[in-house]
Amino acid sequence: MFPVPDTLQTAGLTEKQAMEAAYDEGCRSFTFRKNIYADAEVKQTLISIQHYKCCFCESKIGHIDDGDVEHFRPKAASRQAAGAPFIQPGYYWLAYHWDNLFLACTKCNQRHKGNLFPLQTPGSRALSHLHDVAGEDPLFIHPEHDDPAQHLTFDHENIVPAGNSERGRATIEGLRLDRTELTQHRAEMLSVVKALYDVVALFPEEEPVLREEALRILRLQQLDHTAGKHQYAGMFRAWFRRHPVPQAGSGN
Ligand SMILES: [Zn+2]
Repeated sequence: MFPVPDTLQTAGLTEKQAMEAAYDEGCRSFTFRKNIYADAEVKQTLISIQHYKCCFCESKIGHIDDGDVEHFRPKAASRQAAGAPFIQPGYYWLAYHWDNLFLACTKCNQRHKGNLFPLQTPGSRALSHLHDVAGEDPLFIHPEHDDPAQHLTFDHENIVPAGNSERGRATIEGLRLDRTELTQHRAEMLSVVKALYDVVALFPEEEPVLREEALRILRLQQLDHTAGKHQYAGMFRAWFRRHPVPQAGSGN
C-alpha cells in the first residue's frame, strides 16, 4: 500500500477547506493549484501504482510522455455528454482527493475525457461538497474500484474493445478506447503471442521436446503479459481466456 502523498493532506486539505468555505459564501468558480494535485510525490506515487500505464487505455506512457494527473471526477466543471452544457462548479472538493487522482495519457485525458463525466441518473449528480458522491452512478468505469473485465471485452481479432454493459460501452465511447492508433498498437503487441501460439500448433505430437519448449515460452509470455504491470494486460487476459495454453504435464 502506498501512503497518501503529504501535500494532499496538508496544502491540499487547506485548499479544500478554503473552497468549501468560499462555496458557502456564494462562490461558484474556483482556481486550482497544479503544484499540489500534480506535485512530484503525487505523480511518482501514481506512476509506481499504475506501472506508468494510462488508467484508461492501458498504454505505457513513460517512454514518450510524462502523462497527466487526471481527475476522475472533473474538478472545474463536468459534462453529461460531449457537446452538452458545462455543469459548474465541478467536483472542486475532490481536486486534491487521493481517490480521485490517476495517471492518464494526454489523449485519453485531454483529447477525449476532458470534462466528461456522465451518470446513469444525471439528477443524482453531486453539485457541491454538501452532497455525497456515493449517491451517484457514474457511467465511466472507475480505474481502481471497478473490474474492467466485467464491463468490456475485445472483439475483431481481440484488439477492439467492446462493451459488455452500458458502463463498458459508455467508457469505450467517451474515451475513444477503440481509436485506430490504439487498436493498431494493440495488434502489434498481440501479434508476437499469436505467432507463438500458432507455432505450438504446428509442432506434431512426434516432436514433444520442441513443442514443449515452445509451450514453455508461451506460458512465460502469458504470465508476463497478463500481469498488471504489462501494457494492455486486459486485452491479453481476454485473449488467453479464449486461447487456453496447455499447462505442463497436462498431456494436451
Ligand atoms: Zn490513455
